[in-house]
Amino acid sequence: MMNIVLFGPPGGGKGTQSALIKQKYRLIPIAPGCLLREQVSKKTALGQRVAQYIDRGELAPDALVLDVVSEQLVATPGAPGFLFDGFPRTVAQAQTLEENLVRQGAQLDAVIFLEVPEPELIERIRHRAQIAGRVDDQDEASIATRMRIYHEDTLPVAQYYANQNKLFRVCGVGAIDVIFTRIEAVLARLSNLLMLK
Ligand code: AMP
Repeated sequence: MMNIVLFGPPGGGKGTQSALIKQKYRLIPIAPGCLLREQVSKKTALGQRVAQYIDRGELAPDALVLDVVSEQLVATPGAPGFLFDGFPRTVAQAQTLEENLVRQGAQLDAVIFLEVPEPELIERIRHRAQIAGRVDDQDEASIATRMRIYHEDTLPVAQYYANQNKLFRVCGVGAIDVIFTRIEAVLARLSNLLMLK
């Protein structure tokens, strides 16, 4: 069993790489952002609660996101492993995730940090705005807020995992398949290490 976090800035390519990782390693994806955006477009009660946060580029409240994640965790007992995408985004979320995994007799094995310089991120988000129609990609103020919150609240999560020797930095610039090859190399090293334990 291998539990992995795909970590990175907005526009860093987490969604794209997560699809490839999940396919190759047969991990169960847990991506609260994707789920929440789906709830917003279906106009469910949950969607109406989070729409304002998403539109403004702010984080949804920790308690709400943690509820969504733990529901998904318990809904898949005996999973071969989870791939967390865009979660945790705060240190409090990281700590609760750890507690939840420990309660299930599991642990987080690695955090893959997709690193992309900010000017490229902004360019990618603007491009995505034209093709995917995400409301939070259309608005410059919302993009700026997401970048600020990423630096203030989310980057400390990288340090949290670096302190546990679980952070693996991967260059997130280049062709999709080249970036995936870098991730595969990290995961190959990791599965060797896990077998040695
Ligand atoms: P994403 O699709 O991952 O970019 O997420 C879209 C939006 O959902 C974010 O801008 C936040 O408003 C919300 N969201 C997603 N993941 C989280 C999280 N881990 N914590 C708080 N809010 C989140």
